[in-house]
Amino acid sequence: MGPGPVNADPRVLRAMSAPLIGQYDPAMTGYMNEVMALYRGVFCTSNEATLLVDGTSRAGIEAAIVSLVEPGEKVLVPVFGRFGHLLKEIAERAGGEVVVIEKEWGQVFTLAELDAALAAHRPRLLALVQGDTSTTMNQPLEGIAALCNKHGTLFYTDATASLGGNEFLADAWGVDAATAGLQKCLGGPSGSAPITLSEKAVEVIGARRHVEAGIDDGSAPRGIRIASNYLDLAMILDYWGPKRLNHHTEATSMLYAARECARLLVGEGIPEAVARHRLHGTAMTAGLQGLGLQLFGDQAHRMNNVVAVHIPEGVNGEAVRSALLNDYSIEIGTSFGPLHGVVWRIGVMGYNARKDAVLLTLAALEQVLRAAGAPVTAGGGVGAALEVYEAAG
Ligand SMILES: *Cc1c(COP(=O)(O)O)cnc(C)c1O
Repeated sequence: MGPGPVNADPRVLRAMSAPLIGQYDPAMTGYMNEVMALYRGVFCTSNEATLLVDGTSRAGIEAAIVSLVEPGEKVLVPVFGRFGHLLKEIAERAGGEVVVIEKEWGQVFTLAELDAALAAHRPRLLALVQGDTSTTMNQPLEGIAALCNKHGTLFYTDATASLGGNEFLADAWGVDAATAGLQKCLGGPSGSAPITLSEKAVEVIGARRHVEAGIDDGSAPRGIRIASNYLDLAMILDYWGPKRLNHHTEATSMLYAARECARLLVGEGIPEAVARHRLHGTAMTAGLQGLGLQLFGDQAHRMNNVVAVHIPEGVNGEAVRSALLNDYSIEIGTSFGPLHGVVWRIGVMGYNARKDAVLLTLAALEQVLRAAGAPVTAGGGVGAALEVYEAAG
């Protein structure tokens, strides 16, 4: 019950144990096409360029940024938590001229603040995290594309932690590139990064392609280099597209996992999955308050799937985490940077966005906190969560 990775759905683990096939087996071509169609459903997009980057979520982030940003181009990175700093670092490594605006942890940016920064810097790319698990905040994305369009700015978002558990509408919100991972709300293991790219993003990436001529006729590569082979989206698009040009050896078991994660979500219905995360996240939040604990951050902008809660005065946060793990086999999260030692982060996502998981976690936390000498309201956690479930019917 941490901020991710979380338990994988047993259906995903079973799918991963299926026999391996090579990437040019006709069955694999069928699976790849199916995966593209399934993830269009998950990202709510009709983007043809919707596929998987092999690697953890960070591989998707790096593929998007290194393929979209030319050295010297301006990149605006609004930072409201740890993963904003990661986007900044990756954009700098890609040679971007990075401009950062920062928000205090526990808050999100307003449209007016983003508009002002876009107008002042007119960047090539806006790189913005949607849900940042380090602070549990969910940055609203609606309306940002219209601001980007005024300056010819491409809009990239890291939806790793939020996708599947919070609303995400790639087309309706005008997102040019979005990336994710399996180990949060998608209910799988880490190791595959779903990505979707608008036609505009595909055009920009295509204009940077360089190796075709070099490899085939021995001449020097032409054009501007995308500074990565493995994460070169121009090549990865050729690999997933109708040309099916060889690139890397497909990570077959991870493709099975990603396919099953999307089949679970699309089968449930994306709005239904988001509603499930909202219900169980609300029950957890109510339960933590029912125990007498204080929540962290702007609750109006919290992700459905993770909540940060203050460690009570005089309680050793790490000792509580150890007791939960050793005595109840429940893992909750510590925190980074300014929140280290200040809050725990409790996740309610993917396969763990379930009533029994929420109630057991609250019951166990009550016992561990009492043993640690913290003042807790007896039965207050489970009671408050049950009220949320009863109200929901
Ligand atoms: C969890 C998380 C990641 C994880 O990246 P990995 O490479 O899978 O470790 C990336 N971005 C955000 C916003 C996250 O919350």
